[in-house]
Amino acid sequence: MASAIGESANIEHLATLLDRNREGIYTCVHCGLCLPACPTYRQLGDENDSPRGRVYLMRAVSESRLAIDSVFAEHIDSCLGCRACETVCPSGVPYGELLEAARAELASTRSGGVEQKLLRFVLNRFFTRRALLGVLMWIARTFRESGLAQLAFDSKLLGNRGRLALALLLSSRPALTSNAENRAAGPSVSTSPKVAILRGCVMEGLFSHVNRATERVLRKSGCELVEANGQVCCGALHAHAGELETAKELARKNIDAFRATTCDTIVINSAGCGAAMKEYKHLLADDPEYAARAADLSKKVKDISEFLIGIGAKPSEAIVARRVAYDAPCHLIHAQKIASAPVDLLRSIRGLELTPLIGSETCCGGAGIYNLQQYELSAKIASDKVDNILASGADMVVTGNPGCIMQIGASLLMRGESIRVAHPIELIDSAI
Ligand code: SF4
Ligand code: SF4
Repeated sequence: MASAIGESANIEHLATLLDRNREGIYTCVHCGLCLPACPTYRQLGDENDSPRGRVYLMRAVSESRLAIDSVFAEHIDSCLGCRACETVCPSGVPYGELLEAARAELASTRSGGVEQKLLRFVLNRFFTRRALLGVLMWIARTFRESGLAQLAFDSKLLGNRGRLALALLLSSRPALTSNAENRAAGPSVSTSPKVAILRGCVMEGLFSHVNRATERVLRKSGCELVEANGQVCCGALHAHAGELETAKELARKNIDAFRATTCDTIVINSAGCGAAMKEYKHLLADDPEYAARAADLSKKVKDISEFLIGIGAKPSEAIVARRVAYDAPCHLIHAQKIASAPVDLLRSIRGLELTPLIGSETCCGGAGIYNLQQYELSAKIASDKVDNILASGADMVVTGNPGCIMQIGASLLMRGESIRVAHPIELIDSAI
């Protein structure tokens, strides 16, 4: 769907932000090696929906050879931001940074339809205020747990997009019942790593069971948990939607909150949030007050799997008899370049059979709220994922990002499948 671009679209403004990234744009040598890795190109077969095509469009805009019209917006909007192109690019094109710059300028020049305005309102008014966000999440949880969401989903009264929204919410329910709450924590000694957890907005709102499992595993592994009061949403959703100023404001608040603790490490169990916080150093590179603080903080950020492998955490003798397929979140494998840590952790669980999943490293089509904004294209990408999951013979899928858990879970539900999707830390928690 093409987006409306306002009469006042300021070409020079877009060129300015992309100009700052011109070095990155010119790194592209048009080799085309990224095309087979790009899910949107594979589905649509249009060069403009490939990484090479999108970089070319950005270059044309930055050189004032192309206007910021609805066609430019359409091809930038259809990008998942999965960054699979970065992983395969031999020239090191910083595609994620270029996309963020293009989206930031589009956000500032678009007149915006109702959908865009609603998105901005929710991101800027709710996700920046903890109390308001808490109320929003409470309403969502109550709806989910009351049985009404399931009833509405089963009734089939809604259209596909409405049913998908319900399926996404239903897929945030715990996939495992844990009896781990009463287990003893590991010994805390003076040399224990001091760890602060990013609680996250969606993670604490809809996946608090994953946050509690993370705390138990860290304690059991001998870590001392410290609380970072005042922490807020990481700002990833804002940066991906082009709301860069709000993303920067949230980043500054998080930097202040985590600097006020004595933590050695900031552990994150959401791949998207981890990637965003590791990139605070880029986000705030031009901020004279916060640039150095952001760089320091980014160094402390670790994904939970990366951290547990680093400290040599080992599951106990508990047996978890499951046939599990691992799906790699894009923001873990492509943005953070973490591929083996979650797999190694899962392999160390006794009784767990890890079955190969074709296309594990390919985006599930979730990409924040891309699944609702680009429903048809996202559904096609998700359909391939579901086919591969069914072919794997797995009885459970695990993936370390809330958006992926919801997207894969919802896509399975929409197909009438009962396979559940869990976070890897939930399985580690039941085995440690
Ligand atoms: S692989 Fe990299 S250099 Fe080659 S076309 Fe794609 S973005 Fe450009
Ligand atoms: S981020 Fe993903 S969807 Fe976008 S161009 Fe790169 S590979 Fe394609």
